[in-house]
Amino acid sequence: MILDAVMPPRCPISGMSVGKTGQLSPQAWSALHFIEAPYCPRCGVPFAAEYGDNIECPSCVAEVPVYDHARAALVYDDASHKLVVGFKHADRTELTPVLAKWIERAGAALISPRTCLVPVPLHRRRLLERRYNQSALLAQSVAKFSGVQYTPGFLRRTRSTRPQKNLSAGARIRNVGGAFEVPRQAASAAANAHIVLIDDVLTTGATLSACAKALKKAGAARVDAVVLARVVKGGIGAI
Ligand SMILES: [Zn+2]
Repeated sequence: MILDAVMPPRCPISGMSVGKTGQLSPQAWSALHFIEAPYCPRCGVPFAAEYGDNIECPSCVAEVPVYDHARAALVYDDASHKLVVGFKHADRTELTPVLAKWIERAGAALISPRTCLVPVPLHRRRLLERRYNQSALLAQSVAKFSGVQYTPGFLRRTRSTRPQKNLSAGARIRNVGGAFEVPRQAASAAANAHIVLIDDVLTTGATLSACAKALKKAGAARVDAVVLARVVKGGIGAI
């Protein structure tokens, strides 16, 4: 690329120069925490130890999430935060295939040939400001890798919402509650479908729950979610 000759490609996490655009430095690789089994079979939160088959985490036991299953490729920490911020706000869209591969791997057990992939939609106004929807780029790329349908038209935002950052768990639920709907023209295709929602970060799950609620109201048979990174309360491996 001509651009590479002018500005040598840099790792989005460490800032060190790398051989090719979209590559990560060895330091960045060692800083990232990929989520591996054991984890909660429902929400995917990593467990510190193997608790046995079908043992769910305390928060899923206390309140069953609206989505059926969730999986995440990475723990949301300093390293993955840099990756997400660069991808979302700094036009590092060349990272799309790398991040989508990780998402596809994390969601492999949930994605089948009949799955429809739906990105968490941005409001029209936000899309104009940001120029691209990072979740849509990821979902499109995951669909290409796994050979399943990409169906962004299954969901739309009915109103603009405040950014979830800095809001309490309760305020997050209120902020996005009822903010999504299945457009009338997509209703028959979404009914009885197996949908996998794609997003960048799962924090409290409020946004994914609001999306899942709208899709289930429209008759979706199953709604799962796969994200790039998820918050793990109390740090790595804690539940
Ligand atoms: Zn759980």
